[in-house]
Amino acid sequence: MKEIKTIGILTSGGDAPGMNAAIRAVARTALYNNLRVVGIRRGFAGLINGDIFEMNLRSVKNIIMLGGTFLYSARCPEFMTESGVQRGTEICKEAGIDAVCVLGGDGSFKGAAALAEHGIQCIGIPCTIDNDISASDYTIGFDTAVNTAIDMVDRIRDTSQSHDRCSVVEVMGRHAGYIALETGVSCGATAILVPELPLDLDSVSDKILTSLRSGKQNFIIVAAEGVGDTSKIAEEIQKKVGIETRLTVLGHVQRGGHPTAKDRSIASFMGHYGVELLLKGKSNRVIVSQNGKIMDLDFKSAFNMTKHLDMELYRASQEISI
Ligand code: ATP
Repeated sequence: MKEIKTIGILTSGGDAPGMNAAIRAVARTALYNNLRVVGIRRGFAGLINGDIFEMNLRSVKNIIMLGGTFLYSARCPEFMTESGVQRGTEICKEAGIDAVCVLGGDGSFKGAAALAEHGIQCIGIPCTIDNDISASDYTIGFDTAVNTAIDMVDRIRDTSQSHDRCSVVEVMGRHAGYIALETGVSCGATAILVPELPLDLDSVSDKILTSLRSGKQNFIIVAAEGVGDTSKIAEEIQKKVGIETRLTVLGHVQRGGHPTAKDRSIASFMGHYGVELLLKGKSNRVIVSQNGKIMDLDFKSAFNMTKHLDMELYRASQEISI
């Protein structure tokens, strides 16, 4: 087993609150174990451009509480080609990087797996607000994003209530309804629209009208962005129920902000765990949380896994908010 001397850290794909806490944990654990640590800016784009800097214990001071990523993030189509990966491998060799910690989503892990195939030890740490990495029950950033969305929906409800309105709130989640479900349950939304289920605006409208008859005065519909054109959905609901219906798209506000305790602690633990894996000579692994336990899987089996929205929670939420 080749002993590693230098670890590189990069963040790739969409940023997520808690990435900084994970970077800090990787850097500090590696330095604690007398390894050299380098930061790679802007994901794989920075790697192939050699945008690399030395890190010491103080390089990661005062970042645990910050959203975003102080290493910056990027998408790099060039790394999806064989020549891009070869270039990344050469740069690693030139910079003396034996191992790379990749913080990102499934796409970034494909990049990490490609780099591992070229002999660079790689591990992935799941960071995405969407919680849509199948192998892991939880991804860093999700809790912060949901708490931000809840705060926003609570504010929307205040004004919605004052004007007897219905509010459709679009949250992130192009392919997965995790943010929508968690936010909707936590805000008592009348309806939660997720991409995993067919859109049924007749049922939503019937539900609004039934609760209107029982004295309910304001209605929150939480919709994941993947369900379709939410402005059309708001228009359609207004037409069907005759109540003024406004749309609010939360957008990138969900991606920023101070990470919650959950995101800081899980990021710290995953970062620490990842370096320990590399020290044991492991490569091609993604760190995951399964049933509350942090563990690791090889990239290939992780890519083949599937994860489903908790339909029991969905059903319960719909029965509660009547
Ligand atoms: P997000 O959750 O924000 O979508 P992600 O990591 O899945 O995060 P992607 O845009 O899919 O984001 O991928 C990020 C980067 O990873 C890409 O820009 C590219 O550099 C690299 N990447 C993605 N897929 C591959 C692949 N098949 N081979 C090599 N590199 C890849």
